[in-house]
Amino acid sequence: MLHSDPLKTTVYLGLGANLGDRDGQIHHALARLSAVPGVAVEQVSTLRDTAPFGVPAQPDYRNGVARLITSLPAMALLAVLKQLEAEAGRDMTASKGAPRPLDLDLLLYGDQHIDHRDLVVPHPRMMERNFVLEPLRELGFDVARLPLPAAKPELLSEPDELVQQSTRWLEGGCTVGLVPTMGALHEGHGALVARARQHCDRVLATIFVNPLQFGAGEDFERYPRTLDGDRALLARHGCDAVFVPDQHAMYGPSFCSYVTPDALADELEGASRPGHFRGVATVVAKLFAMARPTDAFFGRKDAQQVAILRRMTTDLAFPIRLHECPTVREHDGLALSSRNRYLAPEDRAAAPVLFMALDRMRGLFQAGQRDPAQLLAAGKALLADEPRARLDYLELRAEGSLAPLPPGEISAGRALVAAWFGSAPRTRLIDNLSLGEADLDPRVAP
Ligand code: AMP
Repeated sequence: MLHSDPLKTTVYLGLGANLGDRDGQIHHALARLSAVPGVAVEQVSTLRDTAPFGVPAQPDYRNGVARLITSLPAMALLAVLKQLEAEAGRDMTASKGAPRPLDLDLLLYGDQHIDHRDLVVPHPRMMERNFVLEPLRELGFDVARLPLPAAKPELLSEPDELVQQSTRWLEGGCTVGLVPTMGALHEGHGALVARARQHCDRVLATIFVNPLQFGAGEDFERYPRTLDGDRALLARHGCDAVFVPDQHAMYGPSFCSYVTPDALADELEGASRPGHFRGVATVVAKLFAMARPTDAFFGRKDAQQVAILRRMTTDLAFPIRLHECPTVREHDGLALSSRNRYLAPEDRAAAPVLFMALDRMRGLFQAGQRDPAQLLAAGKALLADEPRARLDYLELRAEGSLAPLPPGEISAGRALVAAWFGSAPRTRLIDNLSLGEADLDPRVAP
């Protein structure tokens, strides 16, 4: 079949080697490539020495570019290139920056844009590489024609854009990690994005101050909106795209379908914020339906939210892995929160009392105290000593499910706290800690 296909697509290939007989390996690979049915090597640039950058000390590279004509689909050509790299003795399991006897990069495949798990074309870093641009010019390619790489994270505003982007990734075999947020991002959100980056091929954040999860008199109107800074933070942590819809795009005038979690949704946070978790579950279900992520990342800082969303994901059969990420804290223990910026300096100085109360309970538990009343009394005493904090609740619940604990001594549990600071408008902060676990939460530098 391949023999009868017309040769049609022009391909530019990056050539590199920094181990062994560098020129010999490159020329041998090009000869082998010419012998592949459906591939013709048209022209090869001169090869030049390039100092490696951004990697531990290693020999100079030999670099160039070749122009081919091919009838092979891009993925089939990629398979041939990988085979030639392996034949040249390259360790295909070695880390990204490791020295290599042969490197064949598919830079351009006609004018196609490919966003596949194993292949992104045009090559996303070629514009930064003189050892690619100079040989391309030598081959007569007008580098001004190269599309500028899209600024990361790409901004998606319309639900259709989100659906299409996610569909492209999923069809390209990528795993897609979703990080839902309300913006005003801090390093706690950054840690979720970084975790998603480790686990998934593509990372999608969302920023939406969801009116459904705010009650009357809460801070919906004044919730901080800091899109430029948010995009910079997302870029730093390797986020590929961010969905920032307006309210109308999420809830049109006839919107009337909600996800209403039961039981746990009316306790703890739900008791003080009626309807809050209905709003959270509805928006997350909608984001799940639009983005169809393979994985979703949430912070343990909002332990009740995680418990409710886990239940929802199971109950509504979303085929999505949920990841619960540790709470990122300030150096003094205060959990990072978008709402910390509301705090007056005196309240900011007082706010670590939440963590201190939880930590006191953990310390007592780990020293052998198993009576929940004693543990709660110790936490409450510490909170009562801080006049700037007005306690909403301090409770002990079962790990994971956050169900009420059976009466009597406990063998494990999670302490959860909420309190207000300041006045008109007051700021509500929450936190939680496992009694049994060591203090491993990450801290940001002072
Ligand atoms: P928000 O923007 O407040 O809706 O939070 C978005 C996500 O970030 C949620 O999954 C939160 O649990 C998570 N998050 C918020 N603060 C922190 C923190 N200090 N550490 C880790 N995750 C956090």
